[in-house]
Formats: sequence, C-alpha cells, structure tokens
Amino acid sequence: MRLLVWLILGVLVYLAIRKNTRTPDSNKPRPTWTADEQNSEQHVQAHSSGKPSETMVSCAQCQVFIPSSEAVRRGTQVFCCDEHAQQFTAQ
Ligand SMILES: [Zn+2]
Repeated sequence: MRLLVWLILGVLVYLAIRKNTRTPDSNKPRPTWTADEQNSEQHVQAHSSGKPSETMVSCAQCQVFIPSSEAVRRGTQVFCCDEHAQQFTAQ
C-alpha cells in the first residue's frame, strides 16, 4: 500500500515538473479562458450552421417538415400550422 502512495506521489511530481518546464517554453500567457474561447467558438459554429440539434417533424396534413419547436401539436400528431391541425381533425 505504501508503494502505491509513493507511486502516485511520483506521478504527481512528474506531472508538476512537466507543467513547470512547459510554461517557459510557450512564453505566452495562457490563462484559463483558452477553454472558454474554444467553447464560444463552438457556439458560434453551431449558430452559423443553423440549428443542427433541432428535431424536424413532419406535418400530419401536408407532410411538410418543420422544426419541432415550431410545430403545432394536437395529441400525438404534429402540424405545420393551426389551419392544418383543424383540417386534419375535421376529416
Ligand atoms: Zn401542414
């Protein structure tokens, strides 16, 4: 068990040394916002390419595809507009 503790300590020291020796190499300030910036870039890409995560549903009346968030729901059926929902239920 002691050996394991020393092993972990050794790995930690090794990682700390590696971190310390790497910092002066890339002499540029690399604060924590690097990760945030990457995240925001991904957000921008997601916005520029529309809504990739949006689920598309088909109107039960005219079979037109509409984003799930814009669909009109009547029970289990989805429609592109109120008009088609009424037409479908009137049939
Ligand atoms: Zn429709």
